[in-house]
Amino acid sequence: MVSLQLEGRTVVVTGAGQGQGAAEARLLAEAGARVIATDLTADAPAGLADASPALGGELLYRRLDVSDASGWSGLAGWIRSRGWQVDGLVNNAGITQRSRLLDASMADLQKVYDVNVAGSLLGIQALSLLMGSGASIVNVGSVAGLTAHYPVAYTASKWALRGLSQVAAMELGPRGIRVNTVHPGFIETPMTAGAKPEFRQATLAETPLGRSGSVEEVAGVVLFLLSPLSSFVTGAEIPVDGGQSGHGGAKSVSDALR
Ligand code: NAP
Repeated sequence: MVSLQLEGRTVVVTGAGQGQGAAEARLLAEAGARVIATDLTADAPAGLADASPALGGELLYRRLDVSDASGWSGLAGWIRSRGWQVDGLVNNAGITQRSRLLDASMADLQKVYDVNVAGSLLGIQALSLLMGSGASIVNVGSVAGLTAHYPVAYTASKWALRGLSQVAAMELGPRGIRVNTVHPGFIETPMTAGAKPEFRQATLAETPLGRSGSVEEVAGVVLFLLSPLSSFVTGAEIPVDGGQSGHGGAKSVSDALR
């Protein structure tokens, strides 16, 4: 039966130490997957380390800096040495950078690009070699990649990630590997915890559902895209943003005329 269950599947999640990545790792393991959660710290962060017993699947932890090609080949070698194939990859790790158009330096641009774009490309290059037909890759974009979000380095990186995702969907499709992108809006995580109150308020005013999202609400869409229920979906981009990106700026007009 086709279902959201992921028993027998091995999935790698990057940036899984906290925020959305941690929620994705937990939910995928609850769905029965063997999840290899990765992040920058040497040891599994609290919340992942002690989660396994309560889950249907398995939750393992490995250190991985997604911008480091040798780290990816080390991870691929470790997976291969266990005789596993890879059935899913969630390129979730991402960093933000808040400098604006006239202040952004080349170093700012490069730093964000190395993680948000190169990190995803390296992951696809290293792990697609271990994937067979039916595997699924989910890239985590942002509403920043659908709009003119003001932090230019971050926004440019997320637009670039969309291009990478579409090329990957086209190139890997003939092997039966799907590649899709989710675009979170304002989600409550450590990344947004430090956002200015003005940013929060202005973003929620642009969000038809009128609230921020939770990490679980992103993880649910990621699970769907990794599962056989989405077996004919590739090259898709799914906003998980409470409607923020869909109205193209029309909400303030609508609100003004209420
Ligand atoms: P988060 O709370 O900052 O978590 C991101 C995780 O990735 C952190 O554990 C971080 O480690 C790790 N990381 C950073 N650089 C890395 C690297 N080079 N290699 C491996 N791991 C690395 O962020 P989040 O809010 O959960 O965001 C997850 C994804 O969603 C990102 O791609 C982000 O751009 C995207 N997103 C988030 C929102 C939102 O509202 N939260 C909205 C749109 C899109 P450190 O903490 O040590 O840096």
